Amino acid sequence: MTTDTLDIKITQTQNSRLQQTDFANLPFGKIFTDHMLVADYADGEWKNFEIVPYGDIALSPAISSLHYGQAFFEGLKAYKHADGKVSVFRPEKNGARFNKSAERLCMPELPVDLFVNSIAALVDVERDWAPTQAGHSLYIRPFMFATDPYLGVTPSKTYKFMVLTCPVGPYFTKPLRVKFETHYTRAAEGGFGYAKAAGNYGGSMLPFKKAADEGFDQIIWTDAKEHLYAEEMGAANVMFVLDGKLVTPSTRDTILDGITRDTVLTLARDWGMPVEERRVSIAEIVEGAKSGKLTDAFGAGTAATIAPVGAIHHEGTDYTLSEPTTREFSQKVLKTLDAIRYGAAEDTHGWNHLVG
Ligand SMILES: *Cc1c(COP(=O)(O)O)cnc(C)c1O
Repeated sequence: MTTDTLDIKITQTQNSRLQQTDFANLPFGKIFTDHMLVADYADGEWKNFEIVPYGDIALSPAISSLHYGQAFFEGLKAYKHADGKVSVFRPEKNGARFNKSAERLCMPELPVDLFVNSIAALVDVERDWAPTQAGHSLYIRPFMFATDPYLGVTPSKTYKFMVLTCPVGPYFTKPLRVKFETHYTRAAEGGFGYAKAAGNYGGSMLPFKKAADEGFDQIIWTDAKEHLYAEEMGAANVMFVLDGKLVTPSTRDTILDGITRDTVLTLARDWGMPVEERRVSIAEIVEGAKSGKLTDAFGAGTAATIAPVGAIHHEGTDYTLSEPTTREFSQKVLKTLDAIRYGAAEDTHGWNHLVG
């Protein structure tokens, strides 16, 4: 199927929840819009693309996604401009990454144009749900899971592709106290850390819980082999400004190739800032925090955009960084990105995909 033949059946809800929704209080990922998109994969092709009222779906308890984790997701956002237009930020990149995850999990690819057009169709139906307040957006959650009711450990022959949307506000409201995680591992070489596979997140919950019990807001994952190099921060990429250079772990098997990460690197290069994508050691970060050469540190991801690190803990000591609102680089990134995403500045890179 190609886009020209993508025919989405739309069933409108009779009971919109839009009027009852409190847009001043939007906990992340808990409030869903009126509709969702559903499509099926069977007999070697994608079919039955439908937009239907949001709600429960019936599934066999034997589906292999529940037993063996053939499931993965994406995350992206739509923004409402002052003139009422709605745009989705860089959906083609998510579509490409969707297929990298699919390939690693032996799941069928979805042509990027079908991915993008499915999302655009749903967002167009839900455009009134896109919040207008600063820092708010419509979070989009595409996902795919195996639906064969079969307990054999083998790739399913049938799958569902679905998309949910949620109006959301700012993700983190305060600078984060983080520690380097040197016991647990998120991903190892040869594994699937680069895929947005559901199993990667299930495995992160115990380390997160333990860190939270110790008073930390997030952890910085380190490499599986030596636990000497920073890899990611929670479910976001990690970036540092060290001695005037933007420094971030280079992408590899163990690192999710983030679209926010790519966006921040692109802006930094536009501004002529030196950029280094390489292995980043705990030692140099701690050294930079001690000497004052570490002037910025943040997680980069769709949910939070920029999640400033307030303090880094290592081996019994907290290293407090500068107050986030005074940080030149991440503040400039946020301001520039907001201007582009909400349509107030020229979109020179063609990042906004307008819907409708
Ligand atoms: C989703 C995700 C990111 C960030 O990717 P974006 O495309 O910027 O949202 C980074 N790391 C992990 C582990 C993730 O799941």
